[in-house]
Amino acid sequence: MSIKPKKSLGQHFLTDSNIIRKIVDSVRCATDGNVVEIGPGTGAVTEPLLERFPSLEVIEIDERAVDFLQATYPKLKIHQQDVLKTSWQSLFQREGETERPISVVGNLPYYITSPILFSVIDERSLFTEAIFMMQKEVAERLTAKTRTKDYGILSVQTQIWSRPEYLFTVSRHVFNPKPNVESAVVRLTFDTPDPGVDPVFLKVLIRTAFNQRRKTLSNSIKSILLDTFPKESDPDGAKRTQFSLENGLHRRAEELEPSEFIDLAKAFLRETF
Ligand code: SAM
Repeated sequence: MSIKPKKSLGQHFLTDSNIIRKIVDSVRCATDGNVVEIGPGTGAVTEPLLERFPSLEVIEIDERAVDFLQATYPKLKIHQQDVLKTSWQSLFQREGETERPISVVGNLPYYITSPILFSVIDERSLFTEAIFMMQKEVAERLTAKTRTKDYGILSVQTQIWSRPEYLFTVSRHVFNPKPNVESAVVRLTFDTPDPGVDPVFLKVLIRTAFNQRRKTLSNSIKSILLDTFPKESDPDGAKRTQFSLENGLHRRAEELEPSEFIDLAKAFLRETF
């Protein structure tokens, strides 16, 4: 099937059956499981997925691809919509059905990789795993370790809310058209314990800390320190200094493990309530 790839929709169709098989083999769900594919395009990954997971459902925005898929796979359940406007909860957890956790798969449209990741992470209780192809550079950030240049907001957030694994690298030569960058497949497994802390505050803390990643935390998160210990109640900054000492704020954001961000958020919240 040839539909003219649209750059604006991040369309790079996979042409290598070996890579396609590796992606499908990375899904660890039972054959009667709940598998959803994002961006099936012209069905390169959809066909082998459907063979293995007959109740596969897909989300695709491009009407031309939807028409083709409908004609080729009449039994395939297709949601023609923007994945970023999708409420996973309302689309896939149907009334009267027992909850069936979702394995989500996709050779993602790269222009919206991060928002897709965060939409899945935000509704993570619905998912067991996500197998996503993305730019290699983004995959390296998701799985980066502390004290590396790739370690940042994306790494900490992903590693708090899931267990990411870098599965394999994919050459740009197996796509039509070829993207400008190398790709990689990552699997996120949603089996990490709930950190037991307000996710909104945690997000603000991580973001603020990395916005000035070269500074020590006592400087980069000064605004949060001042909100927690306002000048009126701590005119000489003694409480702030004490808190900074106790929580190792002489370090920089890139030195903190994801679990240490959770501990820090909890320490702040203890002071507030
Ligand atoms: N899965 C196919 C393959 O591997 O050959 C196509 C992958 S292509 C990189 C990304 C797909 O995502 C395209 O089919 C594109 O139309 C679709 N897409 C782009 N933006 C989307 C959006 N906001 N919501 C749903 N699908 C989208």
